[in-house]
This record gives sequence, C-alpha cells and structure tokens, in this order.
Amino acid sequence: MNRCHSHDKLLFTPGPLTTSSTVKQAMLQDLGSRDTGFIQCVQDIRDGLLKVAGTSQAQGYECVIIQGSGTFAVESVISSALPPEGKLLILINGAYGARIAQISSILGISYCLLESAENVLPDLEILRATLTENTDISHVAAVHCETTTGLLNPVAEIGRIVKEAGRTFIVDAMSSFGGIPIDMNEFPADFLISSANKCIEGVPGFAFVLARHEALQKARYARSLSLDLYAQWRGLEENGQFRFTPPTHALLAFLQALSELQDEGGMPARHQRYEANHFELIAGMTALGFSCYLPTHLRSPIITSFRYPDHTCFDFTAFYNRLNELGHVIYPGKVSSADCFRIGTIGRIFVADVLALIAAIKQAGCDCGFMGDDGIIIQEVN
Ligand SMILES: *Cc1c(COP(=O)(O)O)cnc(C)c1O
Repeated sequence: MNRCHSHDKLLFTPGPLTTSSTVKQAMLQDLGSRDTGFIQCVQDIRDGLLKVAGTSQAQGYECVIIQGSGTFAVESVISSALPPEGKLLILINGAYGARIAQISSILGISYCLLESAENVLPDLEILRATLTENTDISHVAAVHCETTTGLLNPVAEIGRIVKEAGRTFIVDAMSSFGGIPIDMNEFPADFLISSANKCIEGVPGFAFVLARHEALQKARYARSLSLDLYAQWRGLEENGQFRFTPPTHALLAFLQALSELQDEGGMPARHQRYEANHFELIAGMTALGFSCYLPTHLRSPIITSFRYPDHTCFDFTAFYNRLNELGHVIYPGKVSSADCFRIGTIGRIFVADVLALIAAIKQAGCDCGFMGDDGIIIQEVN
C-alpha cells in the first residue's frame, strides 16, 4: 500500500486544490501524445479557455499551453516577449510580483520596479508618470490576485494606463482566472497567464497563456528552448502537438474541469461560490477571535490572510498539524512584515466545507491551548 495514500483531505490552499472525483477519474486513461483523441482534447482546451475569457481566435486571441507549473509560463512570457533592448516595469506588492523581478534578473532582462507594501495598492499616478518619463520601458507586468496576502490589484485600470501609454501589458492572473470574471475583450492585457491547478480546478502539470495575436507574433526573443512561447504556439498550431512530452493525464483532467466550470454556470457562478466560501470563512474566523491582515476593500475571494493570535500557546506548526490530522489543510503565511497564516477558499469546496473547517479550527485551537472551551481565542492578561 502506498504510504502517502490517505483519505482525501480538504485543501484550503492556493493550489494544488481540492478537485472533484470526476476530474480525478478523467485521468484513468493512457493516451499517446499523437492520438487523435488527445489532439482533439488539446484543441478543445485551447478553444475552451478562450471561450471562458469571452473571446476566440477569430477575435484575435491565442491560447498557448506550457508544460510545468505556473512559474514556467510566467518565465516563458517574460523570456520570449522582452526584446534585448526592452525594459520591464514590474508592479510589486507581494511575493509573486517579486518573483517576476527574480526571473528578469536571472535572464539578464533590464527592469525597474514600482513597489508598495503588501497591504497597499500601486499608485496609478506614479505609474502614469513613470511611463511618461521613462520612454525605454517597453513592457509592464502586474499580478492580479497577489496570493501572498489575497490582495486584488486593479489590473484593468493598470492595463488601461499601460495601453494608453502604448506599452505591452503582462498579467499574472494565476490565482484568479476562472474564479474572478475576466473578459479578454475588455481586459487590456496582451499576455494573461494562469495554470491548471487554480480556479479552473484541474490538477497540476501545465500552465497557459492567453495572448493577443499581434503581441504573440512579436514574442520571438526566446532565451530558452523549452520555454519558447512563440515556438510552442507555432507547434500547437501546426499539428496540434506539443514540442515535448505533454502532461496527457493532467490535460484529460483539465478538459473535464472546464466542462464542470461550464456546468456550474461559468466564471460568474464560480465567483459567487468562492465569495460565499470567503464570507462564511471571515464570519466564522472573526467569531473565533481571529483578525484579517488586509482591510475589507483589498480582499479577494481566493485566499485570506489571518494574523497569528496573540497567545503564548499559539504555534503555527502545531496548529497546522492538528488541523491536518482532522482532515483540513491550511497554508502558511508569506507576508514579510506580519505573522500570518492563509486559508484558501478556491477548489471543489463549498460553504458546508468551510463550516466544517471552522469547527475543526475550534477543535485544534482548544487542543493547542490557545482557545477556551467556548471555542474563542483566550485573551491573555499580563
Ligand atoms: C500559484 C501562483 C503562481 C505560480 O506558482 P507555481 O508554484 O509555479 O504554480 C504565480 N503567481 C501567482 C499569483 C500564483 O498564485
């Protein structure tokens, strides 16, 4: 018996996430990469993703699938789209924005930063002025939902400023695409990046880029063979095949996940379910005495950061392990300036699951000694 196997736990994380049993079952098939059924599956996924985003090839958009996790696709876009003489302006208010800077630095791409604290939105007037004053900036990158905290950046407004200034706009919509409605026809992004194991509720194995056709045509500056976005697209267009081994099982699961997204009512319905999860979580956690890191207007329904309770008995690892034993997986924090942990509300989870999580948190809090029998965080008096 596989020692890793256990009864399915509920994942309250930013991905991989809890998936439906039908998505998992779709993987019980071995297909060759040249199988006509498989090639059709890939085409259906590419068309389906554009459709989810309200657009199509006929409307001037393309979908490119890249093997690997989400970061591979971010790296593919940055390394293929930036010309040698180009310069990337990166908006940073969390770890994922910082990761784009790290990618650029390793690739030797020149870049500059517009940084704000992890609980502060970028200053759009400074953005406008920076683009006016620095004519060498050719591309701008921003993160939609900063999964570090759950903060939602105003990417549509950022994009309008970037497009008015005539620059190329790259959006990391990894944790939001599928869970927060995005219509590519109104959304001013040239490249939008997301992955299989986030809000579409597939399993890990690949990421994808939705790109404006003209922008993709120009993305021929690959600095890597396997992450060459343009060559990957040309390959998929020419014969429907991947240049290198495709994650066949993950793609089969994803096609099923896309059909379940449609059955649920598309992005608006999924957004509503995630919001219901998120509001139930906040109500439950607040009643237990926890407080949110972000103010209400900056939060997203994707993931929520909670501050560590101010109690000597609180130890995140012990709390996490106890919750894990109770079948609920939460996530450590990533905020650099405050002690937080995170709870995701995306994936195949519903309000009833969130209520079960709250009950488990109460149990774990009592067992760890920072909550009283009433299930409320004990206020220590010094
Ligand atoms: C998940 C995520 C990524 C990609 O992470 P991987 O571990 O490479 O899949 C990138 N950006 C954001 C905002 C994310 O949430």
